[in-house]
Amino acid sequence: MEEIGRKEYALALLRSCYGYDNFRGHQWDIINHTLDGGDSIVLMPTGGGKSLCYQIPGLMSDSGFAIVISPLLALMNDQIDALQQNGIPARALNSEKSDIENRQTVDLLMEGKVKLLYISPEKLLNEISRWNTAITERICLFAVDEAHCISQWGHDFRPEYTQLGTLKQQYPHIPVMALTATADRITRDDIAEQLHIPDARLFVSSFDRPNISLNVVQGSTGRQKMKQIVQFINLHHGESGIIYCLRRKDTEKMAAELTRLGIDARPFHAAMSAQDKQQVQRDFINDDLKVVCATIAFGMGIDKSNVRYVIHSNMPRNIESYYQEIGRAGRDGLPAEALLFYTYGDVVALQQFALQSGQVQVNMDKLRRMQQFAESGVCRRRILLNYFNERFDHDCHNCDVCNNPPERFDGSTYAQMALSAIKRTDEQATMFTVTDILRGWRKADIIEKGYDRLKTFGVGRDLTVAEWNAYLLQMLQMGLFEVAYNENNHLKITDYGNEVLFGRQSIQLNRYHRQGFNVKKRETALPLPESAAQEKQLDKVLFEKLKDLRKALAKAGHIAPYMVFSDKSLQAMATEKPTTQAEFGILYGVGEVKCQKYWRAFTAAIREHLKE
Ligand code: ADP
Ligand code: ZN
Repeated sequence: MEEIGRKEYALALLRSCYGYDNFRGHQWDIINHTLDGGDSIVLMPTGGGKSLCYQIPGLMSDSGFAIVISPLLALMNDQIDALQQNGIPARALNSEKSDIENRQTVDLLMEGKVKLLYISPEKLLNEISRWNTAITERICLFAVDEAHCISQWGHDFRPEYTQLGTLKQQYPHIPVMALTATADRITRDDIAEQLHIPDARLFVSSFDRPNISLNVVQGSTGRQKMKQIVQFINLHHGESGIIYCLRRKDTEKMAAELTRLGIDARPFHAAMSAQDKQQVQRDFINDDLKVVCATIAFGMGIDKSNVRYVIHSNMPRNIESYYQEIGRAGRDGLPAEALLFYTYGDVVALQQFALQSGQVQVNMDKLRRMQQFAESGVCRRRILLNYFNERFDHDCHNCDVCNNPPERFDGSTYAQMALSAIKRTDEQATMFTVTDILRGWRKADIIEKGYDRLKTFGVGRDLTVAEWNAYLLQMLQMGLFEVAYNENNHLKITDYGNEVLFGRQSIQLNRYHRQGFNVKKRETALPLPESAAQEKQLDKVLFEKLKDLRKALAKAGHIAPYMVFSDKSLQAMATEKPTTQAEFGILYGVGEVKCQKYWRAFTAAIREHLKE
């Protein structure tokens, strides 16, 4: 097939199967390279559109099929359900399926009736070795999803992935496509080596997710944080969100507290039973549960495109995790929010983890970079993308620093108060104790040590705990004092700190805003370029009605609402208001099968709405 004819065919499939009009970014180049028989390594952020890269080659192959290796059973089953909704013949071979089902799948493969075969890594080699050439000859691609799992350097090494190294040796003529959202160079090189694809072409997409607004709140105390979270959720009433917590018990506490305040929230963590975990995931995906309070265990296996916000109630341990977690928001490309709460207490706790880990140096460095991101006075997106070695040389206008630049003031007096308190404890106090001294809190251990008799006791009473937290952090960052990690985290004044203490130098601080975050209500959030270009307005009442209809149809069909249509498709409907099948069929995300299945219900609802 010539490249032009090839591309036309691919675009026709894209329209008829998925309801999309164009490939995004590198998608076509990747597909084309695969059709030429080339190996590839594909780096794309979550939500970037990796799946189409391997699905389209499978669909385009005459009687062949693509093998997709994926580590997560739940995700696999979801993808297959979603593909089947679009009329695409996809099957899975995994341990959750019955023997009969698995045998059926093999029969279908033999008959050339499957286009995409999803399989778990541990099952693959064993399975292939039993196939006859009638099947193996039909394999047109090995797609290795979450390919970083093969690398010891990655953050999610899985031993079962190491077997995949033999694929290329056994089937040298079949292209291999390794896909991951982990960008660092060591992992990337290791993937090529482990999979034996030294000549693989590298496709690196931008890691920017411009629709996610980035926000950081510094220094909030526990109670304040809770208040701010509740406020935030109420601002996003009816939308799906994830709140990440550091520890299991925090997820439970958070969920209980939110529930008490009338917000429908549930915890999710690794110690829960498989059944409970599945229930939470299912309810979340089906829009029956809006808020999940989770440890990092949540989200891995979830393909839900309309998560509208991700809150980190504690700082994550590194930028990779942070980016992966916020990436679970806004996969449909519509505006979404990331909100990070950050305190010195988090840093201390994370330092403990890092010190106990096998790779102290690496983990401490990564933590420091995360901390710098949280404390930064420059555009946060710049820091993130620079971290991933991507050039980004302008302000993003969709982060808290850009939208609300920090106000600076002369903080020398505050610094002197803090430094003098540290000095008077003989540098035997932690940041927490120093805050208590400055605030004049007669706590048992303060009195016991006689700190209530220090001259500095209570001199900083006019600032709140949150303000002191924020300012002490800035002073630490500036290098006025250091934390002796090997000495119970006691604070030690540096030479620079002494200069400031004795008035030989002055310092500037960023003003702490009590309100902390100013994440706007969605109406005022940045419009996306696409929707800005549209003349027509989104009819919000209709959008809500269509959401209800989607939910009812999903219930009836025993599938998740997002598998009926994404929020983005519903928005297109509530904007364009199609009343005929032809008008309906050209909308975003409406492929042929879905058009057939759903046009009547949706256009009827739209006509009904227009009458009112
Ligand atoms: P990833 O696997 O990289 O996280 P997905 O493959 O799930 O991302 O794609 C994210 C979303 O973008 C999905 O809803 C997908 O259908 C949509 N998408 C992918 N490619 C396109 C495209 N060319 N045009 C429109 N939407 C697309
Ligand atoms: Zn910015």
